Amino acid sequence: MEAISPLKETTDIILEEGGNALELCYQCGLCTGVCPWNRVRDFTLRKLIHKTQMGQIDFEDEDLWRCTNCYACVERCPRDVQVTHIMRAMRRVIMEVGAGKAPESFRITVKNIASVGNPLGEPPEKRMDWAKFLGVKTFTKGTEFLYFPCCYQAYDLAIQRVLRAAVYIMNKANVDFGIPASNVVCCGESVRNGGAESLWHNLAQTNIKAFAEAGVKKILVTSPHCYLAFKNDYPELGGNFEVVHILQLLAQLIKEGKLKFTKEVNKKVTLHDTCCVGRREGMYDEPRLVLTSIPGLELVEMRENREYSLCCGGGCMGRIWMETKKGERFSDLRLEQALETGASTLAVYCPYCMLNFDDTVLVMDKAGEIEIKDVLELASEALE
Ligand code: SF4
Repeated sequence: MEAISPLKETTDIILEEGGNALELCYQCGLCTGVCPWNRVRDFTLRKLIHKTQMGQIDFEDEDLWRCTNCYACVERCPRDVQVTHIMRAMRRVIMEVGAGKAPESFRITVKNIASVGNPLGEPPEKRMDWAKFLGVKTFTKGTEFLYFPCCYQAYDLAIQRVLRAAVYIMNKANVDFGIPASNVVCCGESVRNGGAESLWHNLAQTNIKAFAEAGVKKILVTSPHCYLAFKNDYPELGGNFEVVHILQLLAQLIKEGKLKFTKEVNKKVTLHDTCCVGRREGMYDEPRLVLTSIPGLELVEMRENREYSLCCGGGCMGRIWMETKKGERFSDLRLEQALETGASTLAVYCPYCMLNFDDTVLVMDKAGEIEIKDVLELASEALE
């Protein structure tokens, strides 16, 4: 039997996924300069890439699990090295070839998703329970949008409020939407980036089949992770749908005069740009348009925003499911930046960001100074 060569597997996977070859890197170190890990510990991304080039990867090295996929390195690299492809390929070799060991918490999450279709290990038949008393219809052929809630927003009682806000706004704006029957599962975006490629295949195929059978053409999402999965990953398996983030829809309705905020929300608000649809998709204006259309609301910017936004630490590579030591949490640094602006509200538009910041506010004992709200919650407060 041919021996497994982790380096060969890594290189093959990078190429198979359309990533460019490792040899493009000429060790300038710009990626290290922008990597948020450098703010909290000694972490040299350039060296990690060099070791990979030299075939000296230690697959037991926990540094292989640090990358959050914030995309800052890819955006700055002068050689267009797709560092996130390299990280994903190495994790795939660990997860699927068994070259090393994944963090325990990540393995548990992968197991949950594989067995019940969501990272929280909740019963699949309860996925749409959040909508029980909201009068939301189930999607049927001819409905304009399938509204697909993220697993966390669907199951986690602490953040279900974001879905309620979304439904309230869509009803006010007469959006024709329906939710899936409970035969859908996690979009799979973060587990795929964490290296669980076969699991991602199964999840994507289950969803694509459910969407196609229901006659779905357009999918509306509130999570940037679902957005990336459906828009960029599912077409690889033949799942071609029009994918719309709810803030894109609201921005369009505002521009067309079909959505008008009438109630004052007298708050000083700062906005955290999420990495997933920020650096990857350039979605910076839509949340700002929604917030600045709310009467009474004052939007103040943090010193690092838009493409320079600091990752909250959740990222798109499963980091949300891994332990991060106190003193190394990016969300703590980001909350400090939010507090510097004098804002009383930190607005987000991603469930992972919300979970991280909710936690940080408690750990840093800042609940009396700043609240974490989804942009949708602020928008729903501005509607009579
Ligand atoms: Fe290599 Fe690009 Fe990083 Fe420079 S920025 S060290 S070329 S990966």
